[in-house]
Amino acid sequence: MMATNNVISITPESEIKQFVGEYDVAVCGYGGAGGCASLEASRNNAKVILFERASDGGGSTALSSCEMYLGGSGGTSLQNACGFEDSNENMIAYIEASLEGKGDSKKIRLYCENAASHFEWVKSLGVNYKESAHLGRIVVPESNESLLYTGNERVSPFSDCAKPVPRGHVPSHEGDFGGKIFFDALKETIKKTKNISVSFDSRVLGLVVNEQNVIVGVSFKKDNIVQHIKVTKGVILTAGGFVMNEDMIKKYIPFQASFGAPYGNPWDKGDGIQIGLLMNANVINMDEAFFGVYFYPPESLTYGIFVNSNGKRFVNEDSYGARIGYYCSQQKGQKAYMVIQNEDFEPSIYIDKLPILAVAETIEELEIEAGFKEGSISSTIRTYNSDVRNGKDEQFNKASQWLKEISKPPFAIIDYSFSNQASPAYSDKMGPLMFTLGGLETLPTGEVLNKDGEVIPKLYAAGRTTAGLPRTGKGYASGMSVGDATFFGRMAGISAAQNNN
Ligand SMILES: Cc1cc2nc3c(=O)[nH]c(=O)nc-3n(C[C@H](O)[C@H](O)[C@H](O)COP(=O)(O)OP(=O)(O)OC[C@H]3O[C@@H](n4cnc5c(N)ncnc54)[C@H](O)[C@@H]3O)c2cc1C
Repeated sequence: MMATNNVISITPESEIKQFVGEYDVAVCGYGGAGGCASLEASRNNAKVILFERASDGGGSTALSSCEMYLGGSGGTSLQNACGFEDSNENMIAYIEASLEGKGDSKKIRLYCENAASHFEWVKSLGVNYKESAHLGRIVVPESNESLLYTGNERVSPFSDCAKPVPRGHVPSHEGDFGGKIFFDALKETIKKTKNISVSFDSRVLGLVVNEQNVIVGVSFKKDNIVQHIKVTKGVILTAGGFVMNEDMIKKYIPFQASFGAPYGNPWDKGDGIQIGLLMNANVINMDEAFFGVYFYPPESLTYGIFVNSNGKRFVNEDSYGARIGYYCSQQKGQKAYMVIQNEDFEPSIYIDKLPILAVAETIEELEIEAGFKEGSISSTIRTYNSDVRNGKDEQFNKASQWLKEISKPPFAIIDYSFSNQASPAYSDKMGPLMFTLGGLETLPTGEVLNKDGEVIPKLYAAGRTTAGLPRTGKGYASGMSVGDATFFGRMAGISAAQNNN
């Protein structure tokens, strides 16, 4: 089928009247994965064209905080400067455990063994990191420290599987500007690099194949005209995820789509995945998405407990926001409430839009006023307080640092149910923020596999167009997605440039 306006398709070479150019490597989508892929392809002597649907590069990567999950190899230079050591085996043990069998072991190993040198590569673009750590419970430091805990490293059961080490690396700046800092540096480097042509306002619509169904070109729409270029070595799909494509989220993540608020750039429409599917590529992990319930900072809120509508606890409250989000999603009606005593409560941007259902002098009054069954929350609190006095949370093993009796009035109950969740910056749809974690199945080299597990010649992919390093919301650590997109983008760029088949 000939590529026509706005329809993703594969076009036989015989139907093309004119190619407007010829390149070794074509990269489809100029976000984190695509920018890094282009740079490495060109550094491996390929003539590269980089297509971007928007009028500028960046995608979700530029919108992000650009936390990258890095460590291993004795520690990154930042971890070491802040007094931490890490090892490949320790990092692998943590990631494998956190993904609970859903991770790709080969990708995890390659990533962990090279994460420290990837950090040096990122710094070499001109991205600055401050050699200082913020070790509190935060999401993004509003101060300018660059190293932080961004996952469940200190949280049961993971603290028993691997030695806790902070691995979140964020460019240094006061406020949440990491993505812009990283992307500006990447863009400047690409501008100065010979052999990369960037084509903005150019939506890739599909591929051109020869009679043997081997890729020989790319179709794209620019200036309202569908055009084609020839490609000799390979095409790299780096068009992001599919969280902005309503049909795809209803098809692949109907459960999360029923409550999640899409989080990403407007062109997260799944074009890369759809192009791959037309080449008979295999898609995996399509039912997984990240969604987070951030109730901290301030970290003192961790002294509170979460209960469901039966007044029962369901998670260790010291968990990372994505893990809390997963467990909230498993509660009836996605309803979740925090019970906290006044001395631990502090307002913050993360909770100031959430309803406080009741404030009372006793837990018994609190549960009645908030509409819970008599005895429900109060019995939970009795068990919890007894555990605290005995020094061990028998139910969920919340770390001892966060164990504190809930016994000093007044008490409050805050409604964290998904229908009340809104991000301070992205609040047009209520619900926890969500992006997709499924996509094309690839090898660590970026080569795309078909449904029989074979490599599709000349087709590569990286970032959220693929099922990469992060595989579950439950086990997600911030930084796994940008770290994955930039690192495996580089791998795909090198592989495509070196392809002589
Ligand atoms: C606000 C926010 C904060 C986040 N913070 C973090 C964080 O700190 N750490 C972390 O790990 N993750 C974070 N994430 C997630 C992370 O940013 C993304 O998952 C990741 O950046 C995706 O990278 P990518 O290269 O795959 O896609 P993108 O960076 O989105 O790039 C894809 C590009 O492809 C383009 N494109 C799409 N279709 C086409 C087409 N047909 N033709 C041409 N171009 C096309 C898009 O316009 C886009 O520029 C955050 C996400 C958001 C929204």
